[in-house]
Amino acid sequence: MVPLMNRRQVMLSLGAGGMVTALTGCSGWQTGRSRPRVVVVGGGCAGATAAKYLRMWSDGTIEVTLIEPNHHYVSSPLSNRVIDGELGLADLTRSYEPLARRHGVRIIVDRVVSFDPIAKRLRLSQGDELRYDKLVLAPGIDPQFEAIDGLAAAHADGRILAAWAAGPDTAGLHAQLRAMPDGGVFAITVPEAPYRCPPAPYERASLVAAYLKRYKPRSKVLVLDANQDVVAMGSLFKKAWQDRYGNLLEYRNHHQAVGVDAGTLTVRFEVQEDVRADVLNVLPPVRAGRLARDAGLANINSRWCEVDFACFESKLAKDVYIIGDAIQAAPKMPKSGHLANGHAKVAVAAIIASLRQRPLDPHPMLTNTCYSLVSPFAGMHSAAVYGYVAAHRTFESVADAGGVSAEPNEAEVTEALAWAKNLWTDMLG
Ligand SMILES: Cc1cc2nc3c(=O)[nH]c(=O)nc-3n(C[C@H](O)[C@H](O)[C@H](O)COP(=O)(O)OP(=O)(O)OC[C@H]3O[C@@H](n4cnc5c(N)ncnc54)[C@H](O)[C@@H]3O)c2cc1C
Repeated sequence: MVPLMNRRQVMLSLGAGGMVTALTGCSGWQTGRSRPRVVVVGGGCAGATAAKYLRMWSDGTIEVTLIEPNHHYVSSPLSNRVIDGELGLADLTRSYEPLARRHGVRIIVDRVVSFDPIAKRLRLSQGDELRYDKLVLAPGIDPQFEAIDGLAAAHADGRILAAWAAGPDTAGLHAQLRAMPDGGVFAITVPEAPYRCPPAPYERASLVAAYLKRYKPRSKVLVLDANQDVVAMGSLFKKAWQDRYGNLLEYRNHHQAVGVDAGTLTVRFEVQEDVRADVLNVLPPVRAGRLARDAGLANINSRWCEVDFACFESKLAKDVYIIGDAIQAAPKMPKSGHLANGHAKVAVAAIIASLRQRPLDPHPMLTNTCYSLVSPFAGMHSAAVYGYVAAHRTFESVADAGGVSAEPNEAEVTEALAWAKNLWTDMLG
């Protein structure tokens, strides 16, 4: 087994051949096994959807194995509502069991530590090996704690949390907010785009401000943004902040965090003055999950994996399909759970077409809707539709489709919850 491959080795593996469809560079199928084996790595929005739809759309003719280290799925969508205390982690937790019981997915609770795209084998943390015919990689993102001096240690000992993947840190950040004195400062730093879920830091700041306005009104929220301006739904957020929170919430752009001091809860910036807070929520830059990086597949700035958008096959490794936040997204496409779920369906259709030696869908479509709350009682959304344009080999926004809310409103709080429940059912139900 070759655990790690350099980029040249991976590219050489592409030359190993395989039928190439007439429509795209996506791999064809040539082994002729009657029950092909597809292994899916990662049971998040992208991977769980892929595992389920591989079984459903192949009428159970593909053997599907899902490998995920966690026993349950905990949703990052809606997790900002755990930080303001409106929801608990249990509300966001769903079982993987229906994937096995209803759809016949074999689930292995473990972590993949390496894979060999030439021999088509992968190795689990306990040392077991699995063979595959096609591999779906959906490892999500890893935070780059080391990009901010002192953050790795401060995060490890729980003093400064990111809480950018729902779990114990999300509840930990809520506990820090509850313990903060009235008159204290909650500061959140936003990394340079692209990062997971563009509106989510601003939603978090809004919900924290609503909490403080209600329970600790002498306090302050500071949004310290590395970007030039609010990255998503900017005018709606800024108006909502002014109308609802006034001086309680302050937005500062061009604040690129470079270091933290966990003892004094101080954050240092590239140019601007240091800021001290009572609760410091530092969001570091992110990049594709380690498995994809270690395999040499994160070829864009050593951060993101380049795929053929016609089928989501890696540009570097044949029969390896990469979906979700780990990819270099098409222009104007955010890293979102909604899109990760859509990537999975395009990839699944392409894998089945390849296995059945049929042509690919020449015009796959994707949709996205991001809901954001500006308070527990007012939500808004931004929606978009993307179509694959074969001539440009990428997805492009469809003109006059989608849009944003006119203003935050009560109905969209309910719709945001319904959207999340639909997503969870579509992935796991
Ligand atoms: C606060 C917040 C709010 C958000 N709100 C929204 C929203 O309202 N709408 C929306 O569309 N999106 C939202 N998102 C974004 C959404 O959570 C992500 O875009 C989505 O989870 C990406 O899906 P994924 O499958 O790529 O990654 P993930 O969902 O993170 O799944 C990756 C999985 O891979 C597993 N894994 C990693 N490495 C390995 C390995 N080596 N072996 C086996 N398994 C492995 C992990 O354990 C994990 O379960 C939000 C995110 C945050 C942080």
